[in-house]
Amino acid sequence: MEKMYEIIREIKENQNIIVAGHIMPDGDCISSVLSLSIALERLGKQVLSIVDYDIPYQYSQLEEVARIRKVDDVINSIDSCDLIIVLDSSSPDRVGKLQDFLSSKKTIVIDHHITNENFGDLNWVDDSFSSAAQMIYRLNRSMNVTYDSKLATINLMGIATDTGFFRYPNTTSEVFKDAYELSLLGGNIWFISQMILENNKPERLKLFAHVIENMEFSNEGRFVHSVIKYEDFQRFNCTEEDSSGFVSDLRAIRGVEVAVLVIEYPKEQVHVSMRSKNSFDVSKIAKMLGGGGHPRAAGCSFKDSKVEEVREIVVKEISKILKDLKVIDEER
Ligand code: 5GP
Ligand code: MN
Repeated sequence: MEKMYEIIREIKENQNIIVAGHIMPDGDCISSVLSLSIALERLGKQVLSIVDYDIPYQYSQLEEVARIRKVDDVINSIDSCDLIIVLDSSSPDRVGKLQDFLSSKKTIVIDHHITNENFGDLNWVDDSFSSAAQMIYRLNRSMNVTYDSKLATINLMGIATDTGFFRYPNTTSEVFKDAYELSLLGGNIWFISQMILENNKPERLKLFAHVIENMEFSNEGRFVHSVIKYEDFQRFNCTEEDSSGFVSDLRAIRGVEVAVLVIEYPKEQVHVSMRSKNSFDVSKIAKMLGGGGHPRAAGCSFKDSKVEEVREIVVKEISKILKDLKVIDEER
């Protein structure tokens, strides 16, 4: 936790602070950015909250989401900031256009990804935390930030979403302790779950039906993969954000160890989402292909690429490793 105290010292010395999350933001990213931004404002700082990407529609029920800006919209204010704090991002390309400013400003990185490249001047990276939001909770409490039910709910959201609503193996007793404290402070888990889990658009479910139609299994049913092409998003009147969560549903299929969803959005920009259940380390494959993530949830992106070619490359790599793993298991 020594790093955390260094960060507190650094925050004390700066007045104008940018708090940034990653492109393709998820619940943890949005929660962390808002929780730290609100906290720093309560400590009297000027804060600019940046996520250089559209925020998925589910989160619009949080009025604080409106404070999050894209880089182009605040380009003139960036220069007057003294410090950038980057959250939940394992590499500098994850912050979109803000990446261009990282070398000229003092940068702090707070993250729980094992693949983090430690690209800040000060890096607090600890993969024993379930979520960046849990790290922000510890940081905020150590800075004596006052919590009301709004901040507690926003902060709890990232812990809930990154643990799959307290189901994944990263749901440690420490997670329950911090979540318990946040619920005592007014954090409302039902508000969060209805906003995220009980808020499905019919178009999105039709897109998911398409994903199911396109499933292919290999390695005796231990590997499932599917694809969404840009045309499919258009046909079902959906955008990329609507596909979030699908890959976890693929992993939930009986007997599946690895699930992959290859997404093309927009045309020829391809994102690969990978999930595993028990033993396969998808972060290694993601890293090898220029991405990153966690052992059980990782991803990578390809520019100017054909979606079927990307699918073929990823499927080949994963099938091969799964086959070798099976041989090792059988020889054991
Ligand atoms: P998702 O499959 O939900 O897009 O991402 C799963 C995990 O992998 C997240 O923790 C995310 O931060 C990481 N991840 C996804 N895509 C990329 C990528 O292109 N680069 C890096 N470094 N990490 C990624
Ligand atoms: Mn996270």
